Amino acid sequence: MKKIPLVDLYAQYLSIKEEIDEAIANTIKNSSFIGGSVKEFENAFAEYANIPYVIACGNGTDSIEILLKAYGIKEGDEVIVPSCTWISTSEAVAGVGATPVFVDIEPNYFTIDVSLIENAITARTRAIIPVHLYGHPADMPAIMELSKEHGLIVIEDCAQAHGASIDGKKIGTFGHAASFSFYPGKNLGAYGDAGCMATADPAIAEKARMIAHHGQKGKHNHQIEGRNSRLDGIQAAILLAKLPHLEKWTEQRIEHAAFYYSLLKDSQVEIPKTKPGYRHVFHLYVVKVNERQNVRDKLLYAGIETAIHYPSPLPFLPCYASRGFKPEQFPVAVANQSHILSIPMYPELTKADQSVVARHLADKVLV
Ligand SMILES: *Cc1c(COP(=O)(O)O)cnc(C)c1O
Repeated sequence: MKKIPLVDLYAQYLSIKEEIDEAIANTIKNSSFIGGSVKEFENAFAEYANIPYVIACGNGTDSIEILLKAYGIKEGDEVIVPSCTWISTSEAVAGVGATPVFVDIEPNYFTIDVSLIENAITARTRAIIPVHLYGHPADMPAIMELSKEHGLIVIEDCAQAHGASIDGKKIGTFGHAASFSFYPGKNLGAYGDAGCMATADPAIAEKARMIAHHGQKGKHNHQIEGRNSRLDGIQAAILLAKLPHLEKWTEQRIEHAAFYYSLLKDSQVEIPKTKPGYRHVFHLYVVKVNERQNVRDKLLYAGIETAIHYPSPLPFLPCYASRGFKPEQFPVAVANQSHILSIPMYPELTKADQSVVARHLADKVLV
């Protein structure tokens, strides 16, 4: 039976095999395992993201944590994060000793509900980390207005949203700084862990670079105790080879979303919405269904892989059990929880496969 995977990284490799093989071979030939293409990739990604300073690092979790550290956020501080995201967002806050304060998502777009942020602000609040979840931008204009009013730092978690924008302005350019992940399955993915920080603030850029490179300001000049969070040469070479394709891949994701829409709009499957003027880049295509387990089982039987992003809102994970959060505090996250389902979405997905997915999905839900 033909399988339809959630993502197919090998199909993408085959589509640019020569470029990738050459990038890897060159890195090995030059032994440029550290450094190498990193600077060139940083410059290329800065241009793509339209953010002046890009500092590559080991992964997207480090990049959030290093940025928080660069802004001096520490124990006793609070940082506002959405209730629904990958754990990196809150983990990084805890990583600098601060406390993540969870705010529920709004009902339509899975992103932080800006109308609830003000209530969560205390005298200890230092920053907000909005997440452009699944590829849909958070309401950055409203968040920046709030941040100005309350003097808060905004770090955009762009891990799932390379190339997304609001009224033509790219995400990552709204906040004081932005964090990107190049985890293999992300819209721009390396062949291992990778990430970067981005900001228009030269002082923060310098500090972030120092922290990620053992606190060095130039070789052996350790100004502070930093850490080691580097992008390695092979990953930089791969990312540099892939970046010129990113816009085309993004367009393909958007086209697939439009095709899913045409196939599913008259079914009882609730399809993802896009706020007017927003460019959703569909890192994930998350529908809502009833009787989710039955739907998943039926799709799996037909060879179609699905997933749940994520199986629990963050406040209800075991690691936050001691904080005693109640379901009533996060009604939207809780209401969505048993319905969300990620179906196959990747640039190389074919219309034929999408039709198969939609047929099985709609079929089941209408029963
Ligand atoms: C992937 C991801 C990150 C960072 O992940 P790494 O695996 O550390 O690169 C951060 N936030 C969100 C929302 C993510 O999806």
